Amino acid sequence: MPLTDAELDQLIEDLGLKRPRGGSARKPIAHGTFRGARQHRYRKEQLCQRCLDAETAYYRERRAGKPRTRKPKPKQYLTEEEWQARVAARRNGGESQ
Ligand SMILES: [Zn+2]
Repeated sequence: MPLTDAELDQLIEDLGLKRPRGGSARKPIAHGTFRGARQHRYRKEQLCQRCLDAETAYYRERRAGKPRTRKPKPKQYLTEEEWQARVAARRNGGESQ
């Protein structure tokens, strides 16, 4: 016969078990990423080679001044006429009464 949640809670309490609390300490480490390296450090663990590599690469990249950002879209400049046409189109289409 399966236990109800309440019974299970009681059982856990009776046995003196601690439920895992939600928190970053319980999450699996994302090895091989900078985040993983942070997790190792947060837990005062020695970094595994993959995380160490990722961290090294991360800092090297930052130092090189090449942050990983997406290419900014080229700005689109409208001529006065195009701008007016766009405004007019928005007015005509947007306000249907
Ligand atoms: Zn790791």
